[in-house]
Amino acid sequence: MYPRIVIDVEKYRHNVRVMKERLATHGMSMMAVTKVFCANEELIKILNEEKVDYIADSRVKNLKTMNTSIPKVLLRLPSLHEVHDVVRYADVSLNSEWQTIKALNAAAKAAGKTHKVVVMVDLGDLREGVYYKDDVQSFLQKVETLKHIELHGLGTNLTCHGGIIPREDTLEKLVKIVKTAEKNLGRKLSMVSAGNSSHLHLFENGTDMPTLNNLRIGEAMVLGRETAFGNKVDGLYDDVFTLEADIIELKEKPSYPEGEIGMDAFGKKPSFEDKGPMLRAILAIGKQDVDHHELIPIDQNIEAIGSSSDHVIVNMTNTDKSYAVGDTLTFKLTYGSLLSLMTSPYVVKHYA
Ligand SMILES: *Cc1c(COP(=O)(O)O)cnc(C)c1O
Repeated sequence: MYPRIVIDVEKYRHNVRVMKERLATHGMSMMAVTKVFCANEELIKILNEEKVDYIADSRVKNLKTMNTSIPKVLLRLPSLHEVHDVVRYADVSLNSEWQTIKALNAAAKAAGKTHKVVVMVDLGDLREGVYYKDDVQSFLQKVETLKHIELHGLGTNLTCHGGIIPREDTLEKLVKIVKTAEKNLGRKLSMVSAGNSSHLHLFENGTDMPTLNNLRIGEAMVLGRETAFGNKVDGLYDDVFTLEADIIELKEKPSYPEGEIGMDAFGKKPSFEDKGPMLRAILAIGKQDVDHHELIPIDQNIEAIGSSSDHVIVNMTNTDKSYAVGDTLTFKLTYGSLLSLMTSPYVVKHYA
C-alpha cells in the first residue's frame, strides 16, 4: 500500500546506540525524544532494548500509551487541565509556571505520589522557560517548598524559536544559575539538561561543560543531522525514514498554465516560469500529508514543484531513468515532512 513511510528500525537502533555512547563520553545521559515519530511502538521497543536513560514526548497522550519501564518525561509545558494525567503518565515534566507546578503538586498529592520537575530557563531563544534575567533563584526556592514535587533539575532549550545556536557563552549563563541554585539549596541537582540536536556541534569543537549532564535528543537520531547548522552527524544514517509515493499520472504537458490565472486550490495566486514542455508526474499524496517543499528526492534529477491537498506534482523532465504509471518515487525527509507524514493516518507505516 502507498503512500508509505518505510522505517528502518535497525538503522534507528544504530543511531541510538552511537549517540548514546557519544553522550556518555561527554558525561551526559540521554533523553530520547519520540514526538517526531508520534511515539511509534516499534521504535519505542528499540529505545527499551538500547536502554536509553529517559524517553520524552511533548504529548501526554503519547506517554500514556507508551510501553516502557524507562522513566518518561513530558517535554511540553503541562496544560493546567491535564495535570492529573501528567503525574499519572510522566515521571518528570519540564516546567516554567509557578501556577502549573502548584497544580502538579496538588495532583501528585491526590495520587499519593511525588512528581519530578525540571525547571526550564530561557537563555534568549524566547520559547519556554523562566527568563534567565528574572529571579530564577527565588522561583526555585518556592518549588523546593512543595511536598509532592521534587526539583529534579534545570534545563534549557535553544534553536527552537529564536534559532539561537548553543555556544559556550550562552550555556555558561545556565551553568552560573545551576551553581548558585546548588549553593542555595544545599544539594546537587540531579539533572542539568542542555538543548536538543542543536547541541551536538559543541562536541566536535571539543567544548565540554561538565555541569551539563543530560541531552534531549530527537532529530539527530531520526535524520542523522544536527540542527544548529543542518550538517550530517558523523557515523549516523540519514535514511532511517523514507517516503515512497506512487505515480498516478505521467504525461508531457506545458510548464506554463493556459488561460487567465486566478487562485490555486489554497486561495493563493500562483506564479509560474515558462520552461517549455515538461514531463510531469502526479503522486498520490498531498498537502494533507506533507509539504512538498520538504521532500528530498533520491533521484536528484527530479523535483517536486507543486501540490494540492491530495496531489504532488513532480518535474520528471531531467531524469535519465524511465518511469511509468504505478512506479513509486522515493524521498528522504526533513523534520517537517517526517512529522507530518508520521501524523497522517493516510500514510502507511512500513517496517524494513
Ligand atoms: C522537541 C524537543 C526536543 C528535541 O529536539 P530535537 O531537535 O528533535 O533533538 C528537546 N527539548 C524539547 C523541550 C523539545 O520540545
